[in-house]
Amino acid sequence: MIPEAWRRSEVAVVGLAKSGQAACRLLRRHALAVYASDAQDTPDLRAVAGQLAAEGCAVELGRHDLARIAGASAAVLSPGVASASAPYAAAARALVPIVAELDLAARCLPDTKLIVTTGTKGKSTTAALIATLLESTGLGPGAAAGNIGTPLAEVALQPHAPAWLAVEASSFQLHDAPALAPAVGVLTNLSPDHLDRYASLDEYYADKALLFRNASERSRWVTNGDDPDAAKLAGGRPGAHERFSVAVRFADAWYDRAAGWLVVRGMPLIRRTDLHLLGDHNVGNALAAALSLPPETDRGRVAAGLQAFRALAHRLELVREVNGVLWINDSKSTTVASTLAAVNSVDRPVVLLLGGKDKGGNFAQLAEALRTSRGVIAYGDAGERVEGELKGRVALVREGHDFAAVIARARALARAGDAVVLSPACASFDMFASAEDRGRQFRALVEAL
Ligand code: ADP
Repeated sequence: MIPEAWRRSEVAVVGLAKSGQAACRLLRRHALAVYASDAQDTPDLRAVAGQLAAEGCAVELGRHDLARIAGASAAVLSPGVASASAPYAAAARALVPIVAELDLAARCLPDTKLIVTTGTKGKSTTAALIATLLESTGLGPGAAAGNIGTPLAEVALQPHAPAWLAVEASSFQLHDAPALAPAVGVLTNLSPDHLDRYASLDEYYADKALLFRNASERSRWVTNGDDPDAAKLAGGRPGAHERFSVAVRFADAWYDRAAGWLVVRGMPLIRRTDLHLLGDHNVGNALAAALSLPPETDRGRVAAGLQAFRALAHRLELVREVNGVLWINDSKSTTVASTLAAVNSVDRPVVLLLGGKDKGGNFAQLAEALRTSRGVIAYGDAGERVEGELKGRVALVREGHDFAAVIARARALARAGDAVVLSPACASFDMFASAEDRGRQFRALVEAL
């Protein structure tokens, strides 16, 4: 529930993208005074501001009134607002309680059992798998909320709260979610990421650990048994713990590779060939999703849900085959770990498109997996560093910032039986608006081949 203390003054909502808008409406629904601001001032935002003003919010575009934020009873932050930003600092300095939109929304959904997924990689895929399983078993809606897709505050605005809900949470959201108490928490894996926004790896892992901050004996936790860091983070927290593994059988859910089955809680659940996703990491995601449901759930319906699921766009998504070459869009891969997973998932010689805006990853970690690859095309801002770390260890060519030229080079390199994989291990902002934009441009160029 929303704390009474928040009624003493107005609540500041910082950032007016989809989640900020939903947060404003949710606060108004609960009769709180709202001051909402966004640093941008665009025609679209003006339309939004007009609607929110009509609903009783004070709205400001083009600037944040830091004094007003410092005087607020609480500050609700959109996922994109960094802790180093001026509004965040103003609220923090004035000791204004800071919460993520996710936290506000969770407070307004007290009767919904949240299955919250976090981790470095596989959050979206696993949360989407869980949503599909909630739908196939009749427990909840088939769409996940949170970090991508529908903001949780939008779900909280709907007339009927769902019984169960799949939620994806980023480390940034967890940082400011003091009230979030998942019925089930899923930790997919941990690896270095966001070193551009965190001062250290420990700081990043510390935010991930906040998944467990309200752990109680009634909580259930699903963690990756193949990942020692994830196991360490979960160790000793109150609640029931279950682990999944694609490597060993000493787990509550595991991959019986020899028999070709996914085994969950001691019984075969679905054949590997009936799960239409590439790579062992996706077997792990599916095992995690299956374990996240209550143990008494109908297994046939869980299996049917897994079988019906298809890869999300830009995540090892097959675009098309041209002259015997598979073109695969894994644009959402922005870390070395996920690119490693991609390379290991493709059972063919690979032409890897690697580069973009550098996030500080260690590209040398890819050298071993790329030994038998056709080659790497290093491009974008990170191209020079990629070249420096991999040259001499794998076949590599450099391209610049012209994506059409990157695709043409890949086409010339690939032979029938190969796969060209866009799995950049970098952010996209050097050449594209977003990872989705990068994936869409890849698809368009590949469709025009
Ligand atoms: P997230 O939401 O955590 O970024 P996604 O499901 O969107 O995760 O996938 C992002 C990238 O990571 C894609 O390239 C995908 O193929 C890869 N990926 C998905 N699941 C895993 C996993 N369990 N381990 C490593 N990489 C993964």
